[in-house]
Amino acid sequence: MEYRTGLGYDVHALRPALPMWLCGVRVPSEVGFVAHSDGDVAIHALCDALLGAAALGDIGHHFPDTDPAWKGVDSKLLLRRVVEMVRAAGYAVGNVDVTIALQAPKIGALVPEMRACLAGVMGVPEDRVSVKATTTERLGFVGRGEGCEVWAIATICK
Ligand code: MG
Repeated sequence: MEYRTGLGYDVHALRPALPMWLCGVRVPSEVGFVAHSDGDVAIHALCDALLGAAALGDIGHHFPDTDPAWKGVDSKLLLRRVVEMVRAAGYAVGNVDVTIALQAPKIGALVPEMRACLAGVMGVPEDRVSVKATTTERLGFVGRGEGCEVWAIATICK
């Protein structure tokens, strides 16, 4: 077995009256993400982790925000495409772990739904998908409610 690991990171700014999508789930919130796509910063970080593990570049290379085709796109579609690329390179998805840093709203109650959604899109069992949420204790741009920061790690194998 050959194992590979990749790390993904993404940030999106928050603004009032925009939709908030995280891990494919619509989060009830008065603020949402500024983005060319649907702004699902968690899926974007996860895509970069998977692409990184397979050394297949990054999300900006495959889905450039200058391309109108990706305007407002459902990020679940991007994740599905990325998993197809990873599989086409001969790898299976081992496990993924996503950490979301967001001051508000609280999203802990949505984590089971987020895990189920990501597992469904990637076609892997839910026990291979971890989603964690943290605040930054009101420190930094996340703590001031200006944005959301996400790290993701993925292990793939063949
Ligand atoms: Mg992004």
